[in-house]
Amino acid sequence: MPATHFICSDKEKIEISQCLSMRGCRLNDRCCPMPYLRAVAFDREYRGISPSMAGNGARLIWLKATTDYAIDPDKRAFAILGVGTHAKLSNPMYTHNVLSEEPLREETRQEIADLLEEDEYSSGRYILTDFKSFGSFKVRRALGIQSRKIPVLDNYGNPVLLKSGPNKGRPKTINENFQDQDFADVRNETLQLNRYRMGFESKGFPVSKMCLFVIIRDGGLQATINQGITTNTIKIPIPRLPDENVITFYDELERQVNNAFKVGYVHKCGDYESWNGRRCDGYCEVSEKCKELGP
Ligand code: SF4
Repeated sequence: MPATHFICSDKEKIEISQCLSMRGCRLNDRCCPMPYLRAVAFDREYRGISPSMAGNGARLIWLKATTDYAIDPDKRAFAILGVGTHAKLSNPMYTHNVLSEEPLREETRQEIADLLEEDEYSSGRYILTDFKSFGSFKVRRALGIQSRKIPVLDNYGNPVLLKSGPNKGRPKTINENFQDQDFADVRNETLQLNRYRMGFESKGFPVSKMCLFVIIRDGGLQATINQGITTNTIKIPIPRLPDENVITFYDELERQVNNAFKVGYVHKCGDYESWNGRRCDGYCEVSEKCKELGP
C-alpha cells in the first residue's frame, strides 16, 4: 500500500492528495514548498527484496507493502538530500568514461549500483562504489570510532589537576577518539554492495574493490570534529563476503516477507533492524500498525 497521509507540523494527519491540491494545506501555510512535498510523497512499490533492504526487518518491509501509512515530510529531508547527491553524481557529465549500469538493473529489478569503474591499478578488474549521505554518528559507527577520557599532562608528565568546580583537585581530562575494528559496523552496506558485486561479476565484470563514498551531512562542525570526524567526505572500504552468505541472507529475508504475505503476520524486527527499539519509537512509519500486531 502506498503512503496515504502526511503528518503536518502540528502532528495532525492529512491525506496526501488533499495536501497537494490547490489551497489544500489544512494550516493554510505550507510547511514545505510543493516540489519538496511531491518528492517525499511516494515510496517505491514493493517488487521483491532489493539489496538496500538489508537493514530492514521483514515486518517493516511487509507492513510498508500492505498497509496505509503516514509520512512526516520533515523526517524525509535527508532522504531527499541522498537522492539529490545520487542524481548529481550519476550525471553523465561527471561519470565520463564510467561503465554502464544497465547489466545490474534487470538483476535486482528496481535497483542499480551507483558506480562501477575500471580499476586503474588492476587491469581487467573494476571498483564498485556506492554513494551515501550519512550523519557523523553513522560514520563513527561505520569506522568503529570510540572515545575515551585521557588525563592532561603538564610538561613534566604529571597530571594537571582541576583548580575549581565540583571536581576541584581531580585530574583534568580530554576526550580522545580512537578506531576499534571490533566496533565497526557496515553490515547492511556490506550485504548491499556484495549483492551488487555478485550481479556485476555474473555479467563478466570482476570486482577488485568495493567502497562507500560518504558525504558527511554535519561534516565541518566543531562537534563533529570533536567526535573524530575531521573531513566532509570519506571513503569506507567494504569487505568481500562469500557469495553463499549473501544469498542465504537475502533468501531468508525474502522467505520471511513472502510468508508474511501468505499468513498475514511476521514477528517484530530484531534488535539490529529496530536499532534496539529506537526505530520503533519515532523513526518507523508503520509503527502504529506494528503495535496493533503485537510481538
Ligand atoms: S515499529 Fe519497530 S518492529 Fe515494528 S516494523 Fe517498525 S521497526 Fe519493525
